Amino acid sequence: MDERRQRAWQALELGPLWRLRGVPAAGAHAAPEDDEAPAAALPPQRFPAPGLEPGSPAVHDPLPRAAASMRPDPAPSPGPPHPEDAPGLSRPPAGAQVEVASSGWPELRAAVQSCRACSLSEGRNRTVFGVGPQEARWLVIGEGPGAEEDASGEPFVGQAGRLLDAMLAAIGLDRQRNVFIANVVKCRPPGNRNPLPEEIACCLPFLRRQVELLAPQFVLLLGRVAAHAMLGTEASVGSLRGQVHRLRVGALDVPAVVTWHPSYLLRRPEEKALAWADLCLAQEHFEAAGRAERGD
Ligand code: SF4
Repeated sequence: MDERRQRAWQALELGPLWRLRGVPAAGAHAAPEDDEAPAAALPPQRFPAPGLEPGSPAVHDPLPRAAASMRPDPAPSPGPPHPEDAPGLSRPPAGAQVEVASSGWPELRAAVQSCRACSLSEGRNRTVFGVGPQEARWLVIGEGPGAEEDASGEPFVGQAGRLLDAMLAAIGLDRQRNVFIANVVKCRPPGNRNPLPEEIACCLPFLRRQVELLAPQFVLLLGRVAAHAMLGTEASVGSLRGQVHRLRVGALDVPAVVTWHPSYLLRRPEEKALAWADLCLAQEHFEAAGRAERGD
């Protein structure tokens, strides 16, 4: 057993699972997904125009899709959907979109802190912007803050956070050194429910700007909400995991792997072996890209 597997063995308590189950082929999933299953698409709905509190920076769309409609040749294939056009997601009205194409990190952080664009602001104690160095080459995206994150202002600080840290440490990642961690929504949904499509649509411009500013070389998407929001799909995590996707944000085209959310792994520890396989896939792809870049 190599050193990396030993670390994973300890971090994820995989020992018996490796021996009993093995790792299914890429894309396979072996268990019911309970809350990781595709959500039923909500009917289109209107919601109050999002807006920032007075003093917040002006915002606009970093992905002007109008440009696509001006291309001279109609594309034979529509290509992947814009993440904000994913089924079940509503897009904020034009002119009121909370987007920050010209903002830097400080402005973006201030915009999140003062944001009242959706009803999640009403019950929050603190916004949860994200954590990690701005030079990080890895980005991990989760769903939204829970109670402990809402109290601390930092993502993934509870039991699921400790598991995530252990998982990341097994592939050499540390939120203090080399990985940035953020969520799809920055305020805690009440009762730890999943964020609603309109809440995701309101908040997604912040995350998309974070992706642009960070320009990561690899993205790990934790769970259904993150995968659906960023990849524009309603497919199950089980069918999305085990493969490398392309995450397109602005001019960026970043490889991404989907895996189970740590909270799900706490409820379904028998799935940890699959999560470890996803982490290995991500790391191998990241390292291969590095070798190719260096000409090794
Ligand atoms: S969840 Fe996002 S969009 Fe909603 S109030 Fe919080 S920061 Fe604003």
